[in-house]
Amino acid sequence: MSERKPKVVVVGSFMMDLVIKAERRPQKGETLIGQQFGMFGGGKGNNQAIAAARLGGDVTMVGRMGSDSFGDTLMEALVEEGVEVGYIVRDAEAGTGVASPVIDADGDNSIIIVPRANMRLSAADVERAATAISESDVLLLQLEVPVSASQRAAEIAKSSGTKVILNPAPARDLPDRFLSQVDMLTPNQVETAYLSGVKVSDSESAERAARVLLDKGVSAVILTLGDSGVLLFKRGASTRMPAYKVDVVDTTAAGDAFCGALAIGLARGEALEDAVAFANAAGALAVTALGAAPSMPTATQVSEFLAS
Ligand code: ADP
Repeated sequence: MSERKPKVVVVGSFMMDLVIKAERRPQKGETLIGQQFGMFGGGKGNNQAIAAARLGGDVTMVGRMGSDSFGDTLMEALVEEGVEVGYIVRDAEAGTGVASPVIDADGDNSIIIVPRANMRLSAADVERAATAISESDVLLLQLEVPVSASQRAAEIAKSSGTKVILNPAPARDLPDRFLSQVDMLTPNQVETAYLSGVKVSDSESAERAARVLLDKGVSAVILTLGDSGVLLFKRGASTRMPAYKVDVVDTTAAGDAFCGALAIGLARGEALEDAVAFANAAGALAVTALGAAPSMPTATQVSEFLAS
């Protein structure tokens, strides 16, 4: 008999990333010839769902995309990854979300995002997936869809014992009631400062910021620090995990690989420290490849990486 796969529901966003590489950004009124173009699946929800599926999860995605060709392309990719897509709404009025990063010669990135259908995800859309959420091990949320939809998902999860991970990205004001329903919060440095009101510059200020968030009812704060690794805070305990040394190609979606992997580790019933160590490896691997969704590592890649 085959082993039961860890079950994860992701409620989140879809984007088509239209990536342009150019020497520099155009000035006002200027038309500039760029050097490269690439179209990649993206959106934090989409990336995290793909990461969790590649890492061995039985993954269901809940969200909204347009009835357009970008939506068709993203949908085909999700089906190919084995993600359950039955709760994804195809919006007849708003198109699929798009993101347009411009990467200059120094590798610096500026991005314009147009959320479109993502911001029309409703609490009612989420309620249609209530059984899937209740039956899953972990619910994984981000903030590229309306807070009301994410909060409803967290309530359903909380009432059925499903663990809730919130990746509070991009940073936004959140009701305290929502935070009190979150088990693990995974902010980066900027999001930590935004949510706690404490500027994070060293380990002492990180600890103060984490304490503010723990006092709002979160069970653990997992602060991601890019190439400086991870700080893990629980009530009365903190752990630092250094980042793996890797050759950086593109840091886009490192946080998404990290969150997808964390969800899988916790859904497998691992201790928080072990799940974070697994996520730290997945985040490192994601920066070694170009693009968002395409750079999400597989279970085999992570175990080979950890073995080496
Ligand atoms: P975000 O992409 O959300 O801003 P971070 O940049 O903090 O998040 O990255 C998330 C995690 O991915 C880090 O905590 C680390 O585990 C891993 N990671 C990110 N950048 C690197 C890097 N340059 N080298 C190794 N690991 C990295």
